[in-house]
Amino acid sequence: MREGISMSGLALEGITKQFGSFTAVEEVTLAVPHGTFVCLLGPSGCGKTTLLRMIAGLETPSDGHIRLDGADITGLPTHRRDFGMVFQSLALFPHLNVADNIAYALRIRGVPAEQRRRRVEELLQLVHLPGYAERPVARLSGGQRQRVAIARALAVSPKLFLLDEPLSALDAKLREAMQVELRQLQQKLGITTIVVTHDQREAMTMADLVVVMGEGRIRQAASPIEIYRRPADSFVADFIGSTNLLEVARDGQGRAVVAGVALSGLALPEGVAQARLSVRPEDVHLTAPGDGRLTGTVTFLRDLGGTIETYVEVAGTTVVAVSTPRERPDVAAGATVGVLLPPEHCVVLRQ
Ligand code: ATP
Repeated sequence: MREGISMSGLALEGITKQFGSFTAVEEVTLAVPHGTFVCLLGPSGCGKTTLLRMIAGLETPSDGHIRLDGADITGLPTHRRDFGMVFQSLALFPHLNVADNIAYALRIRGVPAEQRRRRVEELLQLVHLPGYAERPVARLSGGQRQRVAIARALAVSPKLFLLDEPLSALDAKLREAMQVELRQLQQKLGITTIVVTHDQREAMTMADLVVVMGEGRIRQAASPIEIYRRPADSFVADFIGSTNLLEVARDGQGRAVVAGVALSGLALPEGVAQARLSVRPEDVHLTAPGDGRLTGTVTFLRDLGGTIETYVEVAGTTVVAVSTPRERPDVAAGATVGVLLPPEHCVVLRQ
């Protein structure tokens, strides 16, 4: 048996899941300290839900171990894990009212009626639904239903709170509001929480730790800002926010050369002849054309009110620069401009 990587909190050690010959999750190793809000993020089919289901005990890993506070829980049945779950497959009981839905697990555990009533009141306060105890769930809005599902999952003060795309059925406005609410709730309770989402904005809003997955593997696990500022590879850079990905080569002096221009202040490590450079659109500066900088032609301006995107063609590649109305570039389509890529904002990516 392998050594536990962390005694306190949740530890995933080399978790693999195969369905027949297909590998849905491959060698996932991750340490989640107590009180952390984790978002499992990635495109459809990358294995997020399968990983969450293994943590929940709804699926058995083909290989690897899951530990909680050092104890191996890999084979422990779901009902003995004491986890709170909000999964699409665990819909609210339609024939029960709000209070009975929330108190369901408490009733099964034989908690006395008066204690259950008080706990339901407390949880309804927590999810901003005071006074809704007697309401049939059929008469709730989508957002209210999700709040009740969250309250139901929290009723027994779970050790781990697991949610699979909890906000995906809500409209954009409500979804954004609920992201903030969910984060605030988690911080208030200090509960270790793992949420599956394919929405990078959602992950950036809520998570302490973003785990980007691709084809069953962890591509990067770090804080939202680290993932955004220092993406590990092109997959992560492209998946999180939008970015400019440029081919870069190393010249004889080790300088980074993009479209025939050596960028001052940026070097490629020895042994790396070619790589890709990620530069966020808000970091690209447009200037007058001049020596020692990239030159391009403005092809399109997209004015979104709050931000302005300028599309510049540089040696056959489109570079996007984003600015605010206050710093609006004084250019029109067809203009020749200089394109400045500040070295401190250029990230050389693994291919
Ligand atoms: P989505 O965002 O679309 O829900 P996901 O990242 O959550 O995607 P999973 O549901 O974990 O992805 O599925 C990962 C892969 O494993 C997919 O290719 C899926 O078809 C496959 N898979 C999942 N469950 C099973 C199963 N029970 N039997 C066979 N293949 C499965």
